[in-house]
Amino acid sequence: MRHVTSGLHKRQRALLPIQVGVILWPDSFGSAPPQDMKQHIVCLTFDFDAQSGFIARGLTTPTPISRGEFGVVASRRILDFLKRMQIPSTWFVPGFTLESYPQACERIVAEGHEIGHHSWAHIVPASQTLEEESADFERAQDSIRRLWGRGAVGYRSPAWDLSPNTLQLLRDHDFLYDSSLMGDDYTPYFARQGDRAELGKPFHFGAESNILEMPISWTMDDHPHFEFLRWQNTVMPGLQSPRTVMQGWFDEFCYMQKTTERGILTYTMHPYVIGRGYRMLWMEDLVERLQKAGAVFMTMEQAARAHLQTL
Ligand SMILES: [Zn+2]
Repeated sequence: MRHVTSGLHKRQRALLPIQVGVILWPDSFGSAPPQDMKQHIVCLTFDFDAQSGFIARGLTTPTPISRGEFGVVASRRILDFLKRMQIPSTWFVPGFTLESYPQACERIVAEGHEIGHHSWAHIVPASQTLEEESADFERAQDSIRRLWGRGAVGYRSPAWDLSPNTLQLLRDHDFLYDSSLMGDDYTPYFARQGDRAELGKPFHFGAESNILEMPISWTMDDHPHFEFLRWQNTVMPGLQSPRTVMQGWFDEFCYMQKTTERGILTYTMHPYVIGRGYRMLWMEDLVERLQKAGAVFMTMEQAARAHLQTL
């Protein structure tokens, strides 16, 4: 590990009261950091859906299909950038993408990034029976094993909506973490099974599982900020300025740094969304600013294991 004197401007220093220097970590993606220091981890995560989300919604005409296909073009840009920056990341890849675009996915693996489980067909688990969810889950894990040589240890639900069975499936398959819930922001927690939310009754807390929840948020997801979607009766406008959104994402890191000794901040991006040129420009700027501000970039698996070591 190398400690490098920070070259931050005065204004940036004022924003970062805890920061004392830039820490470049890791020297190799597989090692864990020392535990006796302040640490502000950033996980860059990419949900590589390609066309799977459109197909799952029945949008199979040429234009939505091509919209998903752009994700493959974008994946090359993103991987080029990560390689240049020597930053590890996590790619949640549906089995659909693994089997439709094996070369694009082989590059992710070859460059040392983590592959996370993101279902096979990108169907929302809450809409599936146990049998359907289980079959899709195992099919996806088989696709990952064939490409990566090992199964995923991390899971992210399509559309971030777990079914009542998902956590048990993760336990049955010895998963380490889930990244689909929003019960915290900078601190992982153990996901619960058997919660009951009933109208007119106090909330019933289920038992903690051994699945570490790596929390996410729609605010730290590129999709709602940027993606224009139109249905018969609804329009999701998206198309916000990436300068504004990326400033908000940087401010989130500053707040974590200001208020915690240790924290993990997860950004969620989709190649077909973030990969448009003017968004790439500001995403790259964000990552460079985060690095200067002392962010420690890790895969989600590394961050989850680092967190467990602190307990
Ligand atoms: Zn997805």
